[in-house]
Amino acid sequence: MTRLHSRPARSPVWHPFTQHATAPDPIVIARTEAARLITADGRGLIDAISSWWVVTHGHRHPAIMAAIREATESLDQVIFAGFTHDPAEALAHDLIAIAPPGLAHVFYSDSGSTAVEVALKMALGTTANRRARHRTRILALEHAYHGDTVGTMSVGARGVFTSAYEPLLFEVGRIPFPVPGTAAVDQALAALEAECRSERVAALIVEPLILGAGGMLMWEAHVLAEMARICRSHGVLLIADEVMTGFGRTGTLFACEQAGITPDILCLAKGLTGGALPLAATLATSEVFAAHYTEDRSKTFFHSSSYTANPIACAAARANLRIWREEPVRQRIAALAKAQSDRLAQVAGRDDRFAAPRCLGTITALDLPVVDAGYLSALGPGIYRHAIDNGVLLRPLGNTLYVLPPYCISESELDQVYQVIAGVPEAVAAGVR
Ligand code: PMP
Repeated sequence: MTRLHSRPARSPVWHPFTQHATAPDPIVIARTEAARLITADGRGLIDAISSWWVVTHGHRHPAIMAAIREATESLDQVIFAGFTHDPAEALAHDLIAIAPPGLAHVFYSDSGSTAVEVALKMALGTTANRRARHRTRILALEHAYHGDTVGTMSVGARGVFTSAYEPLLFEVGRIPFPVPGTAAVDQALAALEAECRSERVAALIVEPLILGAGGMLMWEAHVLAEMARICRSHGVLLIADEVMTGFGRTGTLFACEQAGITPDILCLAKGLTGGALPLAATLATSEVFAAHYTEDRSKTFFHSSSYTANPIACAAARANLRIWREEPVRQRIAALAKAQSDRLAQVAGRDDRFAAPRCLGTITALDLPVVDAGYLSALGPGIYRHAIDNGVLLRPLGNTLYVLPPYCISESELDQVYQVIAGVPEAVAAGVR
């Protein structure tokens, strides 16, 4: 493998989701540009996974970078209890204007996991403050992923990501994953109905239309709509975790739009600033807010992060939303969706060395049939290296390959990505590990 980096010897940095004993040295990135990461030794890598799903329009969109520079002329972090500022106020209005109708309040934090933790606490706070203390159970989908903090791991699927931390995790009700066109759809709806009837449930949390880290598993909008209906009819809150799906990934601004639903609580992060700075928002309905709105100070929503509503990040998010208003982002997304599905069909449609090719909006995925399916599949690291050696950043989820690119990716860059994917079976046969 070509050496792409000049990592300082004995770096003290401990990287995320990285087994340092087996992983190659990390690649030093000196610059980012549109759909590319430029290495310290000047090579371009196509960022086919949007740097862990955060970059939407492209790296360093000029309008977002300019907004960040401008914001630094007047503000840095300001305590957000008892104080406020224009960037946070204006962004909240902007978000309410584009969110599914009925969401009326915006709670800021700083990562996807935190946005979900906030949502779970809002749900439990709502039932506790309404004196429905028996409603403490959370429901979640099989194969779900909602983050890496203790609460979010609890609602996520149990497995290699979570097994060491099992003693810390709380129990949740697990709803079968509604595999499209199978009996699992009815089973999922029946399981949800039965759980809701128990009157012990506070909330259902879902990743709308696609389970990301669980393997890019797609499910149908009409099932989501039905789940929303069941929840509503039983007074169970619906939490939509759009940390990954938000800001266009599934073809619409939010995935919930495709089901025509408004969740009680909506979690946003990753693409909120276009991928430039960490910022998260948990949006809630007036009912959820009202459950915490009382003279009784013990019913306060007890949550904060030091960097809540960071003004510079809020300015970046406002610039992101302006890009959505002023540039043809929706057309770009529609064109990317078509370009993606065409290439997926060419590469995987008639090749039985690939299984389950699938696409949703700007995302495509396929599986490599293997005996050790799952995140620790021996193939993952080898495919990653094969892609890097060919100028593309792909990070397989075990034996699942996916392409989730920034919306500015060019046709020729996409061609290169799919050439790499087309070469994966040969690389595997040649023994990449
Ligand atoms: N929810 C979903 C659906 C996600 O995909 C992720 C991250 N991949 C998270 C939550 C957690 O976000 P973060 O990494 O910003 O904490």
